[in-house]
Amino acid sequence: MEPADLLALSRVDKAFRRILLSEQFSPVWKAACRNKGAPKCPSHLSQVKWAYLLFGGSACFSCGSNLGIMRMDFDLLRRACVRCLKTNLVYSRRFTQLFPDIDPTIMTLIPHTNIGPHAHEHASNGKYYWADDIRDMHQELSTFEKGKRKLRDGKTENLKDFKAARMALVTQIVEYAPKCKKWFSIISHLKDKFLK
Ligand SMILES: [Zn+2]
Repeated sequence: MEPADLLALSRVDKAFRRILLSEQFSPVWKAACRNKGAPKCPSHLSQVKWAYLLFGGSACFSCGSNLGIMRMDFDLLRRACVRCLKTNLVYSRRFTQLFPDIDPTIMTLIPHTNIGPHAHEHASNGKYYWADDIRDMHQELSTFEKGKRKLRDGKTENLKDFKAARMALVTQIVEYAPKCKKWFSIISHLKDKFLK
């Protein structure tokens, strides 16, 4: 089955959706993505989320709009329209101005894109962060007290270890993105060519 068909099925009804999105169904999603020659799902994402990112239609993840130019960003792991990019991307140099109460080193813990918010902008040396990623990470960091927090399984996690793991993950995302971009542009090109 095609990933897009699976996603369409998952929208049919609630009970069906629960089954399709369950962990047991993960191999089916995996196989569907593999059949399309898609890059492997990164370890920090679920198969379903990955399928949704790659094959979940062409709407903006933030506002749901289908209109205008969409950017699939494999660094931010989002698809967004230009309007949402303009609203949500935070240029690193404006960080302190926009988030005066957050320690700017938080930027080392979340992925960024080098492409600014404008439609035809090319990659630059500038770093752009998604505003909600900043807020979510700030929230996550606030769950640590005196450098520690209790996890659901009762174990204790050190802030230092958490930060190191996050930095490793960011590196992993940045290194994997070009491969995904390449695959996605080939697929999009083929779609444009054969569906017109
Ligand atoms: Zn949007």
